[in-house]
Amino acid sequence: MMQSLNQADDWLLEVNNMSCGYGDGSVVKDVSFALSHGDIGCLLGPSGCGKSTILRALAGFLPLNTGEISLQGTSISLPGKTLAPEKRRIGMVFQDYALFPHLTIAENVGFGLRSESRSEKKQKVAELLEVVHLQDLANNYPHELSGGQQQRVALARALAPEPTLILLDEPFSNLDADLRRRLSLDVREILKTLGISAILVTHDQQEAFAMCDQVAVLKDGGIQQWDVPYNLYHEPANRFVAGFVGQGGFIPGKTLGPDTIESELGVIRGNRAYRWETGTLVDVLIRPDDIVYDADSDLKPKVVEKTFAGTSTLYRFRCSEDTEFEALFRSHLDFHLGEYVPVRVEADHLIAFERT
Ligand code: ADP
Ligand code: MG
Repeated sequence: MMQSLNQADDWLLEVNNMSCGYGDGSVVKDVSFALSHGDIGCLLGPSGCGKSTILRALAGFLPLNTGEISLQGTSISLPGKTLAPEKRRIGMVFQDYALFPHLTIAENVGFGLRSESRSEKKQKVAELLEVVHLQDLANNYPHELSGGQQQRVALARALAPEPTLILLDEPFSNLDADLRRRLSLDVREILKTLGISAILVTHDQQEAFAMCDQVAVLKDGGIQQWDVPYNLYHEPANRFVAGFVGQGGFIPGKTLGPDTIESELGVIRGNRAYRWETGTLVDVLIRPDDIVYDADSDLKPKVVEKTFAGTSTLYRFRCSEDTEFEALFRSHLDFHLGEYVPVRVEADHLIAFERT
């Protein structure tokens, strides 16, 4: 009893069996997860799977059909009881920065500070602008800033009222790839320095992995797996997670033993044991980094596609109509379409699912 109470106190945010949606139906179905103090969680999934809907429920804009949301051990949403958004101490940052165009950067950041005295407010705004590295632009207006700078203003504004939790809904999707990567790392560092917990919504797996401690992979309003990035990649719970997280595809195989599968790429042995009977038909996940060039190999699939990417080249190989896979080689290993290339599987994580 004591232990379960302690456990509950340790979570910053707890979502249990939550369902919610628009009108009668539920778009989000039976979602459960918990976030520790100071952690950054992520909702990752394809467009339309319900990520923003979950954030709306967390923020208090959407009532629950079933389940419960608790923040710091206090229930904030139950069916028929929704604590008002302004009473939750939850900050939000959206894709369109939604800054006030006629207010300066400093005024934007200080906008939510109502109870502070003028001098307190001024000091707090100055501190926050320093945290997001915009102290020199305090008196500028939003249109004078780049997209990345505007998003940092939006973050500073959300941080100003000292929220318990920050929700970020695809905050970087209006920015180009380079800036996205840099800003996501910046934001992670800012949140970690301040010890503020956050939930990031994104459809970009790299962003999720770079920025978050825990990631929920969502499909059709349900959580497929809630785990650390390493496990999502190496120990995906099901075929959807395996396909959505990271690159790769499946080839057909047949089990020879609990950790051994026979396929057109030869016998593949892995580090996890399955409970299948020998002879079970399975699909084996092959990631591009599982395949290595080996001049001595008898396995010589044919190059059917080639995508040059600077330091590396992505090849698509074919053994037969059923068995195609991709491989990523350093770009000095240069093969042409139609060439037969000796390769070998070098996968320490064997991931396979029973053929259905
Ligand atoms: P995501 O953020 O993952 O792209 P959303 O949570 O926005 O997905 O949407 C999930 C589902 O809910 C979609 O099918 C979408 O059409 C529907 N939806 C979103 N907003 C509304 C709304 N205001 N009214 C009715 N349906 C909505
Ligand atoms: Mg959305």
